[in-house]
Amino acid sequence: MRGNPFTTDGMDPAFALPLRRAVDHTEEPKKSAFCVTADLLIPGKGDPIKDGCIVISGTKITAVGTATSLAQEFSHLPKYHVKTVMPGLWDCHVHLLGLQKVAGPAFVESQQNMALSGARCARDVMLLLDAGFTSVREMAGYGLQIERAIQEGTLVGPKIYSANCIISPTGGHADIHDLPKPWYDDACAHGMPMATADGIPECLKAVRMQLRAGANVIKICGSGGVGSERDNPVDQQFSDEEIKAMVDEAARAQRIIGAHCHGKAGIMASLRAGVKTIEHGSYMDDEAADLMKEKGAVLVVTRLIVENGLVLGREMLSDIGYAKLLKVATAQWEALKIAIAKGVTCAIGTDSCGSIPGSEIVKQGLNGKELYYHVKAGMTPLQAIEAATANGPLTLGPQAPLAGQLKEGYDADFIGLDANPLEEIRVLAGPGHVTHVWRQGKCYKSPGHPVSIL
Ligand SMILES: [Zn+2]
Repeated sequence: MRGNPFTTDGMDPAFALPLRRAVDHTEEPKKSAFCVTADLLIPGKGDPIKDGCIVISGTKITAVGTATSLAQEFSHLPKYHVKTVMPGLWDCHVHLLGLQKVAGPAFVESQQNMALSGARCARDVMLLLDAGFTSVREMAGYGLQIERAIQEGTLVGPKIYSANCIISPTGGHADIHDLPKPWYDDACAHGMPMATADGIPECLKAVRMQLRAGANVIKICGSGGVGSERDNPVDQQFSDEEIKAMVDEAARAQRIIGAHCHGKAGIMASLRAGVKTIEHGSYMDDEAADLMKEKGAVLVVTRLIVENGLVLGREMLSDIGYAKLLKVATAQWEALKIAIAKGVTCAIGTDSCGSIPGSEIVKQGLNGKELYYHVKAGMTPLQAIEAATANGPLTLGPQAPLAGQLKEGYDADFIGLDANPLEEIRVLAGPGHVTHVWRQGKCYKSPGHPVSIL
């Protein structure tokens, strides 16, 4: 820690007091190669291995197998043992916004106090890492800026792939209907991560603005929403031509588009135009699920925000929003069951966006609950884990890293558990059973060493 008066680096010797560092996270990373053995190794894709072992060199996984098969070759390396080892989790639909209210003037107020939002997000990314999430796909928010703070070492958190602004038509889901438009435009001009665009030229410019900011994926509104006041989740937003223009523009820069879609019309139009991920997918029926498969698109259902909304009701939503949620919740549960039964590729996403310390619901770090809902809707625990690990990179198209699996050459992003998630998926629902977290080969959490920036 540079600048700490209790260490000797570069300091006046008068301040060089012998003091034990509280948490020494540098101990493990100094060893460039090590092994992790486990009673159970879940690779993310494929069959689990009993008494498994992975070998890590620097930031990459260099070997995967049984402990016996690798024992001799790597006997010289330091070893760590965990009960279960599996890839770090991916949440493919979060928002890092530092929100305590999801809609209305309170939402805008939080977005105009960005130091406040940033401070809340700093805690949120630590909660995510603590819960075993080593990667998140941030579908609008301050992710690009928070990622910069993580990369430079100011914060610790997951790798963030961000859309930057959500792009909406005027009056669409990400326009804030109860604000005068000039106020909305002013907030956007001062950094609120939202944009409206109408007609092909404005749509192209909106995509280019996100590319300019460094977005890894582009997020658009393919249908109306729940939290927005004056649109209908069933209706398509953006015309077929506008969606196609944005898909093509993103593709020229090797990005894919993820479309917020509840209603079927928006799902079908988005898929036909080449959108690669459908977010929410609430009114997906058999025909839409078949088109998902034909187009090789990925479904990110975000059931957790819906379940949270049902619990919190008007604490979280307006009367209009809650009425919409009740309809969407029923439809979406059927859609998820259809998608799973038909074998649509699913990735885990939660739409988690709240930052309320002390809340047992509105916070980051409970994102693993999403796997439970997918199992309840028909997935096996192993399928849900694949959706939360190996399928994560599929939501990034050409921007995907080699990650999400315990596989030779892949990023050394993995976690240790003190339980078997194939027997009880809820062990992934929070940080309690996540004993270890490694990201890029570096250990950020181990027993007695909580996730910390100090
Ligand atoms: Zn969202």
